[in-house]
Parts: sequence; C-alpha cells; structure tokens
Amino acid sequence: MKKTFLFLLTLLFSAYGFSQETLPRGVTLFMMKTGDEPAKLIIIQRGQQIELSETELDKAPDSVRPYLKSLFTVPPQPFDITYRIEDSAKDAPGIEEWAKKAVELCVEWHPKLEKYLATDGFTPPRKFEIIFRKMEGVAFATQGMIVISSDWVTARPDDWGMVIHELVHIVQSYRRGGPGWVTEGIADYIRHAQFEPKAPMRSFNPDRAKYTDAFQITAVFFIWLEENKCPDLVQQLNKLMRTGTYDDTFFVTACGADLDTLWAEYITYVKENNLQSNGGRRR
Ligand SMILES: [Zn+2]
Repeated sequence: MKKTFLFLLTLLFSAYGFSQETLPRGVTLFMMKTGDEPAKLIIIQRGQQIELSETELDKAPDSVRPYLKSLFTVPPQPFDITYRIEDSAKDAPGIEEWAKKAVELCVEWHPKLEKYLATDGFTPPRKFEIIFRKMEGVAFATQGMIVISSDWVTARPDDWGMVIHELVHIVQSYRRGGPGWVTEGIADYIRHAQFEPKAPMRSFNPDRAKYTDAFQITAVFFIWLEENKCPDLVQQLNKLMRTGTYDDTFFVTACGADLDTLWAEYITYVKENNLQSNGGRRR
C-alpha cells in the first residue's frame, strides 16, 4: 500500500487554521488516504483511540462528527446539464425538441435523486452532457455523459423513463464495484416506483426469471421487498453500493432471509395473484 498522504491535524490553534469550534481541544486526528480508497481516520480523545473509515463518519464521537463531515463534504458542483446532437442523429424527426425536454426532465429529477440516493460526504456529478447518436441499442451512461440512440427516440418518443434510468446511473456513480444487477435494479426501481408508478409493465415468466436478471425484474422484486420486508431497502443498498461494501448476506439482515428464499416467496406471490402480465406487480 502506497501512502500518498499523511496528515496530522492537531487540535485547534491557529498554526493549522482550525478554530476551537471545529476540532475540540484535546482531540488529535490522523488521516491517511491511499489513492481512491476511503480515507482512514484515527481520532485520539481523552486517551481513547477510535479508528474509522471515511465512510463511517456517523460512528465518530459527537464532539468531532460535524467537523469531520464538513472536512469530507466536497462543495457542490453547479448544475450544468446540456445536450448535443451528433451529425448522425440530426435527421431524426423532432430530435431537437426531444433533447430539450430530456434536459428539462434531468434538471427536474436530478435534485430528487441526489436527495434519495444521498450518502455521507458524496456529491454526485451535476455537470454532464446528453448526447444523441444514431446507434444500435437504447442508451447508456458513463462518466460525464448519457448517450441516447436517435433511432430509439424515433421509435419510442414516449420513453422518458429511459432518461430517468440513465440519470440514476449518473447520480449513482458507483465506483467501488458491486454486482451489476443491483445497479440496474436500483435504476429501474426508481423509474417504476417513483417516476412512472402507474405505467403498464412488460410481462414476465416467473418460472424462468431470476432476481439477477436486473432491470425491471429486479426492480419489481425490490418493490415487493420494500412493501413486505424492508421499507428502505433501496436506500440501504445504495449506501452499500456507493461504499463498495455490498454483500448478498445483507438481505438476510435486512429482510430476514437469503436472496433465494426471498425470491421463491416472491414468485409464489406472483403466481397466486396472477401478476405475470403486469411484470409481477400489482396494478
Ligand atoms: Zn442501466
């Protein structure tokens, strides 16, 4: 491990620029940061030593927590959401109007998602571009951009839910690993539970589907789990995914059973209530 930074922040006194209001007298703080890893903190207070990671600031003693939180809060980037229509997409009918509406939708929904998917010390990207391109497939999001197929927009001009799905990926910014089915499940959960909760769903085959199928199937499973087992499941999952600490055993703690058992129970519910034609969800 290469230690790229080692800071010693002794308490207060002007030499370090901290006032008594920020770091209380008698507290010594060591901070170590290695590359992209969360910073490791050692807090020494009244002879007691507490070790914490940057992702566990809630466990810090009351006296230093506000100071630590301010230290790890990156000042918010101003909103800057723009669109660009590539030459290949310029002939798509109505694309300019559609693009403008997509930007408006992102401006409206970004703050909601930012709040819903908030974790300590993290501010999601607020500057990104929505690019329209003639291409196969539907859309994808990557750092600093959402790319949307102009052919898809022509074929499905009512598909605003797709924009929300991609916007969720911008806000998620999961950079520490974790399974793709959870990332995609959360994106579609927000689409189907929050953005268009009344929209009809694609049908599915409960004998072949699995929670790892991602997208709508995982999303509807998460909706059922929140209604029946764990009300804030998705927000908890988001925290784990953002900090790179997700593990399947989380479901045992949060929902009272392992994933396979929960899935089997959900499939029984779908069949008993004949919900296959509405994607496994009650209308
Ligand atoms: Zn996606």
